[in-house]
Amino acid sequence: MKQIQWFPGHMAKARREITERLKMIDVVFELVDARIPLSSRNPMIDDIVGNKPRLILLNKADMADPAITKQWEAYFEERNVRTVTVNSKSGQGLNRIPEIAKDLMKDKINKMIEKGVKPRAVRALILGIPNVGKSTLINRLANKKMAKTGDRPGITQRQQWIKVGKELELLDTPGILWPKFEDQTTGFRLAVTGAIKDEILDFGDVAFFAVQYLKEVYGDQLRERYKLEDLTAPPIEVFEEIGRKRGCLLKGGEIDYDKAAEIILRDIRSEKLGALSFERPSDF
Ligand code: GDP
Repeated sequence: MKQIQWFPGHMAKARREITERLKMIDVVFELVDARIPLSSRNPMIDDIVGNKPRLILLNKADMADPAITKQWEAYFEERNVRTVTVNSKSGQGLNRIPEIAKDLMKDKINKMIEKGVKPRAVRALILGIPNVGKSTLINRLANKKMAKTGDRPGITQRQQWIKVGKELELLDTPGILWPKFEDQTTGFRLAVTGAIKDEILDFGDVAFFAVQYLKEVYGDQLRERYKLEDLTAPPIEVFEEIGRKRGCLLKGGEIDYDKAAEIILRDIRSEKLGALSFERPSDF
């Protein structure tokens, strides 16, 4: 990949800040993008969170392929990881969170009861990479509009607890972790879904990756959207046909690859091809 947007010093600082805040909470809500549940996880999340109980929230479920999301739910369940599939924008699925959080903390609650201490509300921290929907989720759970926190670590603010019903309290500032920079496919998946800025990877490469993937997994949607005839052609020819169909031509009739790439990515991100997932458990 061309460059990284997170300076190692910022990573270390983000990690320190989160470690500090973990001391105040009982459970972690790890927010991932339901379209790319593994690629949108921070590479060091397990190491950072340690053995705090954790709930994975498969967010933006409205944009993901429901059949693949089911597969992901099963994937995590097999690994004894609790998940809830949510849409933070509409609020769908969020009502299940307090109950599950409480269940995750039941050992601690039982110990309190044994000691004669009145159990308090479960305290949680939201963690996730930029753009995964942390602010949207917090605002939804808080039921009010709040200022956006921004993607940079180190904006030290006074922490406040947000009450979600009687039994859950949330830190109002989420923990922001860096995305994976490890391999090209992960980078492409992050870029297609808009998790990393378009300047980081070559736009054309990202769109070409998307066409290759769609051709393999979502052929019908691709054919339908661009009125394609021959999907058995090599991906580059399919890409070119999309360009021609959408009038992306330079003087002299040559394909305008940049224009075609722009259209394809815009269509995917605005769900013109429907709800799509960009990784499946079987890809791993
Ligand atoms: P943050 O950087 O993690 O705090 O992410 P934001 O909360 O700012 O969300 C990034 C973008 O994703 C915004 O445009 C949100 O409206 C959008 N978003 C967040 N959650 C959802 C969701 O569940 N569904 C859809 N469709 N969009 C979402």
